[in-house]
Amino acid sequence: MSETLYMNDSYLKEWNADVKSVSQDKFIVMDKTAFFPKGGGVEWDTGKIITENGEEFNVVYTGKFSGEISHEVDKKGLKIGDKVHCKLDWDRRYLLMRYHTGTHVLSGVFFKEYNLKITGNQLTTEKGRIDLNMEEMDIDSFKNAIERSNEIINKKLPVDIYYLTREEAEKDPDLFKLAKGFTHDIMTIRIVDIKGFDRQADGGCHVRNLDEVGLLKYKKAENKGKNFKRVYFTIE
Ligand SMILES: [Zn+2]
Repeated sequence: MSETLYMNDSYLKEWNADVKSVSQDKFIVMDKTAFFPKGGGVEWDTGKIITENGEEFNVVYTGKFSGEISHEVDKKGLKIGDKVHCKLDWDRRYLLMRYHTGTHVLSGVFFKEYNLKITGNQLTTEKGRIDLNMEEMDIDSFKNAIERSNEIINKKLPVDIYYLTREEAEKDPDLFKLAKGFTHDIMTIRIVDIKGFDRQADGGCHVRNLDEVGLLKYKKAENKGKNFKRVYFTIE
């Protein structure tokens, strides 16, 4: 298993690593990585892997396959044992972090103030989308929840990341409200804590303070069926 550097430092942009495996000439596993693999509804990181002689390989996709983080590069040439330097496409990652933390605020509002649960989400650099178990379509609620989220964002609350033992975490079932199919068999649970507002079990990358998120803007909503409503928003 690669060391996942992004779990402890979402702001790490460059690091050194060793190539551990190469398959089909383009799927690279390294001993450590800060490239976030697509997961939890959040898009993957891109960037560069640079060899000691300066050759650059673009990481076009990062995913998790059989428990390993695999980086798809745009050309062949990387070999097992290569010492490489890695660089994230930071603009892309940072925008995804802002979307991710912003979505936690929005889902916290829906949960606490509307008693609605998030049943799915998809975050890209263009827009955010969340699915809710709302019975009747209520667009005013969506707009109001987004306005309310912006009030919370304007409080500039810090966002802390820490670990709890499984036992401690399970005392607070609300920690798992977003995490469908969260693996409860692991012994430590990573917590993303928007101080004084919302705590979630979460393996993703977040900003340090809500003042980095920007403001959420309602875009549209779709009625996908009973107890299934979809809201789109952007961050500006
Ligand atoms: Zn999350």
